[in-house]
Amino acid sequence: MKVTEHIENANGTTQFTFEILPPLKGQNITSIYDSMDPLMEFKPPFIDVTYHREEYVYKELENGLLQKQVVRKRPGTVGICAAIQNKYNVDAIPHILCGGFTKEDTENFLIDLGFLGIDNVMALRGDAVKSETYFIPDNEGHAYASDLVSQIADLNEGVYLDEEIQNQAKTDFCIGVAGYPEKHMEAPSLDSDIYFLKKKIKKGATYIVTQMFFDNSKYFAFVDKCRSEGITVPIIPGLKPIATKKQLNLIPHRFSCELPDDLVMQVVKCKDNQAVREVGIEWCVEQSKELVKAGVPVLHYYSMGKSDNIKAIASTIF
Ligand code: FAD
Repeated sequence: MKVTEHIENANGTTQFTFEILPPLKGQNITSIYDSMDPLMEFKPPFIDVTYHREEYVYKELENGLLQKQVVRKRPGTVGICAAIQNKYNVDAIPHILCGGFTKEDTENFLIDLGFLGIDNVMALRGDAVKSETYFIPDNEGHAYASDLVSQIADLNEGVYLDEEIQNQAKTDFCIGVAGYPEKHMEAPSLDSDIYFLKKKIKKGATYIVTQMFFDNSKYFAFVDKCRSEGITVPIIPGLKPIATKKQLNLIPHRFSCELPDDLVMQVVKCKDNQAVREVGIEWCVEQSKELVKAGVPVLHYYSMGKSDNIKAIASTIF
């Protein structure tokens, strides 16, 4: 079922969902089930599975020279989506990127998803690979998520890249896109970021999931701004409980979002990461309560492969 239908069917009740990462190459799929099993009692209508593009690593050879190698540390997004749908009978949402994909790769990926009975896709640009300062699209790929959304919307109309394709079977994907309450790190302003967000909606996206935020006022202001710009689709808040001291430095840098002083100081004063986890849970529970009160359709938790803290939060809220 489509995300938009899940939201309609809930009749204004806030639903619980989460996002998982495919396991590192070499790990078993049971590691994913172990982190998902404790969360299934909260009846997520859908579960997102992230996509991880290739990375470049340098391997030292016997002669001392470095050899550049391309590796994908977390393959398996599509396989895990199929496994989730089979095992739990819950809609799985694969993330799909512009980065590392030609348009032809994208079309073939979407055809696979259609055959597997996957009804939703999250369309993203992806970040620059570590060796690049800026995002560089594939020569035959898309530069922005809005272009990717267009291609998916075209396929939903039976329009393939090859004009000579005769049978033109239509896909029927519900398309989600990313939104940034504190603006995307590369965007010169929030206004310009929302301008391009609107473009993604115009081209066919029907819901938005936000980047993580730790101050609800940022989310509420973002939703108001989107609404005043004519964006009417559901805007699902993305939440992440802080779990380690290291994240105090990592999160603002990697996700370009601010951590409120009060939260920072509570974490700074923690003796160990177990105490940090408790602070993170408490903060996220308060955020969740306020968002439910405000009537958000879904609370979407970034689990990062660990579920004990998400379970503790969900037990209080749902
Ligand atoms: P876009 O919408 O293309 O925007 C990128 C930047 O370009 C923005 O600054 C925007 O303002 C600007 N822009 C857009 N269109 C134009 C235009 N036409 N001209 C000029 N500027 C423009 N990354 C992964 O690798 N895998 C994942 O699974 C993944 N999942 C994510 C899930 C969520 C909910 C979120 C919020 C992010 C996720 N990301 C993931 C990270 C995401 O790929 C990065 O944030 C990426 O840098 C931007 O992706 P986007 O789809 O928002 O890009």
